[in-house]
Amino acid sequence: MQKEIKELMKPSCPNIHYFGAPYRDGGCIDGFLHDLDDSDEPGTVNLNDQYIPCPFCNSEAHIEYIKEDMCDQETEMDEDGKLLIPESVLIERAKEVVENYKKMYL
Ligand SMILES: [Zn+2]
Repeated sequence: MQKEIKELMKPSCPNIHYFGAPYRDGGCIDGFLHDLDDSDEPGTVNLNDQYIPCPFCNSEAHIEYIKEDMCDQETEMDEDGKLLIPESVLIERAKEVVENYKKMYL
């Protein structure tokens, strides 16, 4: 799906470094992050279907989304993928990531 960037971007949410470019390539569209580089024509963006919640306007959902990644698989998970630390620790770490986004970009 191709959309005009300008009509969709929320002015309240800053673009952030997210999809690997050295510049701010992640933009919030309707509460989800999209790769602003993924475009066939200037001024448009191809929306991805990854449903990455925006850390600014959708921060609770972003915390849910990234909390799994906040675990050190080698030391904090057993062989069956079961957590060896409380899930609340992961949520705390994820909250910190969101706080850092806010410090860095707002
Ligand atoms: Zn947003």
